[in-house]
Amino acid sequence: MSTEAQITAWLASQHQAMIDLLRETVDIDSGSYNKAGIDAVGAAIERWLAGQGIPTERLAQAKHGDCIRAMVGAEPAAASPTNAPTNIVLMGHRDTVFPDGEVAQRPFTIKDGIAYGPGVADMKAGLVMNAFVLAAFAKFGGAPAPLVGLFTGDEEIGSPEGRPVIEAEARRARVVFNSEPGRVSGNVVTGRKGGVFSFFRITGKAAHSGGNFIEGISAIEELARKIQAIHALTDLERGITLNVGLVSGGQSVNTVAPWAEGQIDLRYVHPEDRDEIMGKIEAIIARSFVPGTKAELTIKGEFLPLNQTPVAKRLFELYVQSAAETGFKTDGEFTGGCADSGFTAAVGAPTICAVGPVGGKAHSPDEFLRIDSLVPRAQAMARAILKLEAAGL
Ligand SMILES: [Zn+2]
Repeated sequence: MSTEAQITAWLASQHQAMIDLLRETVDIDSGSYNKAGIDAVGAAIERWLAGQGIPTERLAQAKHGDCIRAMVGAEPAAASPTNAPTNIVLMGHRDTVFPDGEVAQRPFTIKDGIAYGPGVADMKAGLVMNAFVLAAFAKFGGAPAPLVGLFTGDEEIGSPEGRPVIEAEARRARVVFNSEPGRVSGNVVTGRKGGVFSFFRITGKAAHSGGNFIEGISAIEELARKIQAIHALTDLERGITLNVGLVSGGQSVNTVAPWAEGQIDLRYVHPEDRDEIMGKIEAIIARSFVPGTKAELTIKGEFLPLNQTPVAKRLFELYVQSAAETGFKTDGEFTGGCADSGFTAAVGAPTICAVGPVGGKAHSPDEFLRIDSLVPRAQAMARAILKLEAAGL
């Protein structure tokens, strides 16, 4: 029996075990700001990997989830003569967008072959798949280079702590597989927009809006004007979008608002557009539409765009071929959604994204996962890893 046959047969026998680990990890609240929950998901994965004899190390993070690094195969000496990138990286994030208590309301369930629950597709199924692919290679060997499983903890808010860990890993990577959910079409992602999440706070002046109206300076009026100016920067033809998705402010209905704040999501396609649009946003924040107001802008999180390089294209073609050998069709897609794959691509690691099990409606209560995609997506990834060398990657 060839290694490929052994690995794919073993993965095929693990369907129920994959669902068991998926249930365990989905049923832990792990919103991006719930460090304890994200680390509990990490502990579940560490326990499972330890049971397969796979060592892990924890890179502790102060505010968000720790980064967990699992190794299969010896890591080459750090000071190799060439320092050429060597590792094959399987990447995924353990945080979700859901608040605490979400699991109690809608725990992991399966109905008619579809699994539901917070983060079931985005991306606990991808974490489970990565863990099983690591285990398969730990059992049967055959990987052309050391495998690294990287399980991070703050992707949904732009990886403020995870980013340097991801970038360091990507610099040592010959290829990166990011197991975000496969599209409903079965497609993977070969291009993503970049994104900048920022926060601005406006200060005005409080005054009784009945008795002392003219002394007040309304931060909320300023907020409204700034939102219109920011939204007007949207340019759909260039792939630039702006969304002020969160606002708050004011003190009481009968007080001229002394403060207001908002959060901006900028998305763009071309790397050179980033600074131009951020400059325009900064100018809008600096300008006082309502005289006497002041405002400050802070960048809270950022993703770089994923653009396909010639080497990444070869990785994509290898994956398409591996999927065909597994029995499913897949193609490449562009999406406005951001992910950690933008960071790995930006430091030069050939990257393919959304190779995880297939699901949809991410970030909503209708999020779902096709459980019949768990095994095939794992098999396709394993096949691609086995053939990296032959594909010149
Ligand atoms: Zn995700």
